Amino acid sequence: MPTSSPVTPAPGELEIVRAFVNTLDIESGADLMRDPDAWASWAGAHGLASQATAADLRFGRRLREALRAALLANHDRAPLPPATIEALDAAATRSRLTVRFTSDGPTLRPVGTGADAVYGRIVSAVAASLADGTWSRLKVCAADDCRWGFYDTSRSRTGQWCSMSICGNRAKQARWRDRTGRT
Ligand SMILES: [Zn+2]
Repeated sequence: MPTSSPVTPAPGELEIVRAFVNTLDIESGADLMRDPDAWASWAGAHGLASQATAADLRFGRRLREALRAALLANHDRAPLPPATIEALDAAATRSRLTVRFTSDGPTLRPVGTGADAVYGRIVSAVAASLADGTWSRLKVCAADDCRWGFYDTSRSRTGQWCSMSICGNRAKQARWRDRTGRT
């Protein structure tokens, strides 16, 4: 995926969800959740301190892929897939999300610590985004060998690709090859 291309961050806390889904680069196989050290440095880069056990990371990788499925479903503005709902519920339980009131209104905050606190932040961001209408703009690239998380800023909410200049172009070239029979 296009590590060198410009990236539009998702608004506010939702960016942590986009970044979390992108801890796996499907194209290269690089996975920042492969071991506790890689995870701790990713979490640290996002201002989150997180020790994790191998079991925590296994849980997190399942949560990540359940979110990826939901971001794919967002292309059709489909509701959350059942497996994603199950994974979000499980993460909310593990992180012991609790309602806290601020002057801006209620927010969900995790009581759990370590990796669970990070998963709680992610669930909280998903909940807020579903409530404020930004959720359906968070997508993964339509290219099945990419699936990189991106925030669709297009007015029509019909963005398909993580990057028009990379995956968008590849798709265009593939269609051109199909039409002309050239390789
Ligand atoms: Zn892509």
